[in-house]
Amino acid sequence: MLKDKVALVTGGSTGIGKAIATYLASLGANVVINYFVGPEEANKVAKELSDTYNIKSLAIHADVSNYESAEKLIKEVVDTFGKLNIVVNNAGITDDALILRMNETQFDRVINTNLKGVFNICKHAARPLLKSGYGRVINIASVIGRYGNVGQVNYGASKAGVIGITKTLAKEFASREVTVNAIAPGFIETPMTQKLPPEIKEEMLKHIGLGKYGKPEDIAYLVGFLASPLASYITGVVIDVDGGLTI
Ligand code: NAP
Repeated sequence: MLKDKVALVTGGSTGIGKAIATYLASLGANVVINYFVGPEEANKVAKELSDTYNIKSLAIHADVSNYESAEKLIKEVVDTFGKLNIVVNNAGITDDALILRMNETQFDRVINTNLKGVFNICKHAARPLLKSGYGRVINIASVIGRYGNVGQVNYGASKAGVIGITKTLAKEFASREVTVNAIAPGFIETPMTQKLPPEIKEEMLKHIGLGKYGKPEDIAYLVGFLASPLASYITGVVIDVDGGLTI
């Protein structure tokens, strides 16, 4: 369904990003896996995808929070493949604390990665996407950006900002048929949530209607749909994928 399309997944070598990269490759897209600290894992995933799905995949380093680094990443993608069709802004971090204890560095670090990172990538990807004739932006936000959460004032603000970017760019890009949508995951089992204390995880589980945590693939399948021609009339929306957590 995505044969000959070129997709970029930021933070694509672990967790949700890895599942997204894998599913897009299985649909036939050539996939660039952006990584920040883990070249071995990213190169391994890229090789696995190329070998398994008969597509081209490569790993490229970039710090999405850095304007010039994001610019270099997009340039390298376009220089290598000649175009860019699908951008999945997935890279993200947490650094939780109640506001009474949160310091400025914690706030800035999360905002710079999760929010400014999405701006940096969209800013540099805009021109190639608008020229591509088939463009999709899918931003991984969070239910925390919609509903808030104790101890996550930095993360909640960053993800609410991502929703603002999504709706704004959906309007800016609509006339060129580039769609821009966001997914708001609930609690998904990844390295990010593994580090939470067991009592917080157990408490969370009590509120999930379906009675289980999500898997990275639960997000990836929706990304695949939004990236496909099947979703060509959907833009500017935020879709919760949370097992009923926020009902
Ligand atoms: P994860 O396993 O910790 O993965 C985060 C990814 O982001 C890693 O691949 C990491 O790359 C990358 N990254 C971090 N800082 C970066 C930077 N400055 N530049 C480029 N890449 C960077 O987390 P995850 O759970 O899969 O989360 C993926 C996305 O889903 C995040 O945006 C997160 O906020 C969102 N989300 C997750 C959940 C959940 O329950 N897990 C819920 C809602 C939303 P390296 O490993 O190379 O550093």
